[in-house]
Amino acid sequence: MAKSFTLMPLPYDQSALRPVISARTVEFHYGKHHKGYVDKLNELIMGTPYAHLSLEDIIRKTAGDEAAKKIFDNASQVWNHDFFWRSMTPDGGGRPAGRLKTQIESEFGSFDQFAESFVKTAVEHFGSGWVWLSAANDGGLKVISTHDAKSPLIDGHRALLCCDLWEHAYYLDYQNDRESFVHDFLSRLANWNYAAEQQATPAAAQ
Ligand code: MN
Repeated sequence: MAKSFTLMPLPYDQSALRPVISARTVEFHYGKHHKGYVDKLNELIMGTPYAHLSLEDIIRKTAGDEAAKKIFDNASQVWNHDFFWRSMTPDGGGRPAGRLKTQIESEFGSFDQFAESFVKTAVEHFGSGWVWLSAANDGGLKVISTHDAKSPLIDGHRALLCCDLWEHAYYLDYQNDRESFVHDFLSRLANWNYAAEQQATPAAAQ
């Protein structure tokens, strides 16, 4: 039975991420960009074998396939945006707890060193893309950036937290100051409970 994908409901009000992300940014980012990827994906897969697959399977099957690049780009952008909205929570930020806290401190030296690496990786990323805290196959944590629509999923890694580095994510609120945007994302919005849940999720479930 072929299905179509739906735009996930936002887990909070459009103005809930202020002042880091304005309601106006969410209105366009979620209501136009994210919705646009969902609509385009549905249009591209209609009547194809991809229409029977999960979003994750579409991404894994089309990654690196030039002939299916449009499907990959739109499917992966849907997944990334679903993940991005869940990576934030109003009154978020602060520090992770439990196993994630311990592991970040042991692998990066301290939470502050992790945060510095996350912001630096975002600032040094050239062009559009994403910055991630992800877990490799051996469980080791990594801060990585990915270009355009790519995500850690295509390398079989588990995403824990991500921030959108496309200019549409921050330009209305921060103009060209990506560094302040990512810094404020971490210190005021990062949803560490969500990241910890992802760490505890079997990789195959992502
Ligand atoms: Mn985006």
